[in-house]
Amino acid sequence: MKALGIDIGGTKIAFAICQDTEVTQYRQESSAKGSYEELLSALAAIISSYEAENSIGVVGVGIAAWLSKDRELILRSANLGFDQKYLRRDLENLVGIPVTVSNDADAAIWAEYIFLGRPTGTIVGFTLGTDVGGGIIRNGELVTGSHGLAGELGHITVTDNGLECVCGDTGCLSTVASGTAIVQRARELARENPQDFPYLLSNPQISIEEIGSSDIVRSIKSPTEALAILIPAAVAIARASKLLARVLDHDTLIIGGGVSELGEPLLTLIRNEMEKNISMGPSKIVPQTYLASIGNKAGVLGSADLALNMLGEKL
Ligand SMILES: [Zn+2]
Repeated sequence: MKALGIDIGGTKIAFAICQDTEVTQYRQESSAKGSYEELLSALAAIISSYEAENSIGVVGVGIAAWLSKDRELILRSANLGFDQKYLRRDLENLVGIPVTVSNDADAAIWAEYIFLGRPTGTIVGFTLGTDVGGGIIRNGELVTGSHGLAGELGHITVTDNGLECVCGDTGCLSTVASGTAIVQRARELARENPQDFPYLLSNPQISIEEIGSSDIVRSIKSPTEALAILIPAAVAIARASKLLARVLDHDTLIIGGGVSELGEPLLTLIRNEMEKNISMGPSKIVPQTYLASIGNKAGVLGSADLALNMLGEKL
């Protein structure tokens, strides 16, 4: 059966037909900030255009939002700016095809779980993007908790007296390890000690305030710059994983999201911090840690497979 996977982020929406773990007809559009009703009608129009050329059995939507346990209600989507919306029901009524809704980070980690061959055991995944999301999969089942809010791993407290987070707490993982936080740190370092960051500052066209992800990708070719820029994020991720190990005893850790494109330098720092932080006792086993493999198509693939699961099928 073909499934249409949709990945709704804060600034873009991706669509793709998914069948037998193949992702085809992938397309991505920027999503202008609009009302909920505008989003619904835009989604319905694109689903209809896919349906005209394909026989779609189900639509799986992943969205950056807190969802109710039954995935019927969007409790809050800070990025999209709406709350208390019955997206699944409203969209299904418009398009006449079964629709499911998932949290976008859950969907992305679910896609990596498929890539790993659907192993048993416990997988923890962080999606490091604008914010930090997370997903937990235990013996082939997504862990969603009693209220649908399990796996919000970006809001684990990793530091005392930390920065304020969008959730209202301070010192959350998201305030240290998100792409936003890493860019802010790079800018601070460049302001304080520009002579130490020749790679970071090698584009004469931009000011320090314009430093972005492409500058960081370039700078981490230098091990000393990589260490300076990425160490707080690596320490925070290792700390969060250690806390989670005491609860979950996970055997696999996946680092996903746009920040994971920093690749081996980031992964090496995280692994080193995890090894360093081993204490005696039950948390001394370090999980196998991988960078996400699927890239920006993880959201559509995971959402599609989670939708098929509802019908008792899989990709
Ligand atoms: Zn938070």
